[in-house]
Amino acid sequence: MTDQRTDSPQHNHQMQQQEHQMQQQDRPTPQQAQQSPEVHPDTPAWLDGEGLHLADDQLKRKISNKPVSASAISGLIDGCPAKFTFTSLLADTVIPKTPDDPRVRGTIFHRACELYYNIAPQERGEHIDFERFEECKLQALDENPDMEDDPGLRAWLESASQRFCSMGPDSTDVTVARYRTDNGTERPATEMKISLHLDGVRRRVFGAIDRLVAASPDDPRTVIVDDFKTGRKASVYSEHMRFADFSYLRQQTLYAMLLEHDTRTFENGWNPIGGRLLFPLAEQVTVHDEGSGQDMQLPMKNGALICLDVKDESHRKRTLEEAARTSDMLDHEYEMNLYEYRPSNLCAWCPLARICPAARISDRENAQQAAAGQPDAATLAPAIVCA
Ligand code: SF4
Repeated sequence: MTDQRTDSPQHNHQMQQQEHQMQQQDRPTPQQAQQSPEVHPDTPAWLDGEGLHLADDQLKRKISNKPVSASAISGLIDGCPAKFTFTSLLADTVIPKTPDDPRVRGTIFHRACELYYNIAPQERGEHIDFERFEECKLQALDENPDMEDDPGLRAWLESASQRFCSMGPDSTDVTVARYRTDNGTERPATEMKISLHLDGVRRRVFGAIDRLVAASPDDPRTVIVDDFKTGRKASVYSEHMRFADFSYLRQQTLYAMLLEHDTRTFENGWNPIGGRLLFPLAEQVTVHDEGSGQDMQLPMKNGALICLDVKDESHRKRTLEEAARTSDMLDHEYEMNLYEYRPSNLCAWCPLARICPAARISDRENAQQAAAGQPDAATLAPAIVCA
């Protein structure tokens, strides 16, 4: 009689195959996943044991037409697809924006910068004009009448503006490039939108560049890609860091590749020679010391200006591969109508934390507090339910 050990490779392989078959049998077919749960026929989306599903046809169309962007790559590859889909399509319908929301604050600060750098160079002057920046800041606030009187928001914006204006000439006294929009209009390159195809990525790739800076008086094609960041912590990416976060470098590399292929302004595209992250509020920057193998935190007084190499071949290859994977994921998710969970220690900070069956919430006090502060089932119900 053959002694078939239960931990033999053959046995394990058979078990894995059976497990895989059972998982496949349990998975919803695309047809099943197209149907919303009968108990909540009008809800635009629902969660079950597998992930998030969309019931609303308009939302499905948005996924069908969604281009690949830096935030989609981060949300789908680095983060949780269910969370990303909820936050990008549904969260705003049930979670009101508040003046202390970092996204609200960041948007208003970005708008102030956009207004300031849209002013003609001869009018704006060579050096940063504090009074003009203040006017732009107030205009950006005026555009948000629901928020503008909030003292916390006003104090934060004041601090961000002052710190930005004090960052130094490399950050503030720049010549903004000019570009042609899709309809041929020439304008300053702030909030510059580009949407086109990159090799190997099936969907269109989209980027919105905060500020494109002219880098050579002799060649208007030569530029630096700037991005404003409003976080208090910054880091200089190294793959050897303890918490290596490629997302900002990926974003700037993606923008550089889009610029090279953008022929609206120059028939040979742009020549981006670098990227920069401007962190006016940064109080510390983490850098990795290759010699000691340690990460170090450097305190900052006047924010941080971080320069990035957007020509690095390995980063470009990785960026393009991740863009292609994101495109394929969007196709697959749309086809299956399934946006899977990817639980992590960050679940406590996810707006679905209180209804998600896969949420991983640790016992740590800050995680418990964060999870308790997320919207409850009743608040979320008009947008999403747990089936
Ligand atoms: S709680 Fe976690 S697993 Fe669930 S949707 Fe949010 S991030 Fe994803």
